Amino acid sequence: MVANVIDGKKFAQNMRNKIAADVKELKAKHHVTPELAVVLVGENPASEVYVKSKERYCSEVGINSCTHRVDEESAGETLFALLEVLNADLDVHGILVQLPLPSYLDEALVIRAISPQKDVDGFHISNVGLLGTGQKSLVPCTPLGCLLLLQDQYDDLSGLNVVVVGRSNIVGKPMAQLLLQENCTVTIAHSRSRDIQEITRQADIVVAAVGRPQFIKGDWIKEGATIIDVGINRIACSDGTTRLVGDVDFESVKNIAGAVTPVPGGVGPMTIACLLSNVLTTCCRMKGIEEPTGFFE
Ligand code: NDP
Repeated sequence: MVANVIDGKKFAQNMRNKIAADVKELKAKHHVTPELAVVLVGENPASEVYVKSKERYCSEVGINSCTHRVDEESAGETLFALLEVLNADLDVHGILVQLPLPSYLDEALVIRAISPQKDVDGFHISNVGLLGTGQKSLVPCTPLGCLLLLQDQYDDLSGLNVVVVGRSNIVGKPMAQLLLQENCTVTIAHSRSRDIQEITRQADIVVAAVGRPQFIKGDWIKEGATIIDVGINRIACSDGTTRLVGDVDFESVKNIAGAVTPVPGGVGPMTIACLLSNVLTTCCRMKGIEEPTGFFE
């Protein structure tokens, strides 16, 4: 069997086209332009790249974005004061603090200082609680992107056996919650799990969010299973260059799985598309406008 390679890049492009059309309609009908505020603390080169890419995609779909840079040394006070201002600003619909933060800042406290209504990353404990209790919330972008790809693969996820490898607050746990809402039977595996291969071999779907290059091998999965690879790892090649790989060993998995996401070009583009979608959602909710739905037309 050769797996169907799930084209996250194309799916995300279709999503962005739909979001751009929705933003255009919002501007024309309601004279509102969604706006995202990105807060960047310190000078982390990887974060700089992510922030630039968010700015570019916002601009592509017609969302305003504004990046606020906070000095690493003065971050404590300045950051909380800035978040207060952004929370109160009626023209700002989404707020995102780029992670990771410098180690002396308490990430949980910072996230809690973002208004839950503008929390487009879906990391605020109010949104986490709403998601966990099956209520309308803002959903973290990466798991939301994975769910959309899975919904595109299956007419109904109900009853499927899913193993999520990884239990982080930003990927593994919300992924499991979303899949539970879809009536999947969900197992979460992590670094203390025993015999992970035995667990993943039972799964109709494996979601890998481990942060270890090429961790999940072909002989860990059931024939025909769908494999969603969240991982982004840079590894060294023998010629001295580097390349991106996922948490799944694509080469061995592709001959056994029914479908698999590639890295790059799988989950990554979906994360940013879901961020844009969340900004549109928060804007509509703040303005009392009906939220656009459906990315499958
Ligand atoms: P974290 O490091 O926060 O979490 C990793 C999880 O994997 C932990 O729960 C950990 O278990 C588990 N784990 C680590 N080693 C093992 C092991 N040997 N066996 C089983 N489980 C293990 O990572 P994130 O969730 O933030 O990210 C995961 C991956 O996804 C990374 O590669 C990251 O770069 C990528 N990522 C990609 C995004 C995208 O847009 N595509 C967005 C966000 C992340 P324990 O809890 O026990 O320590």
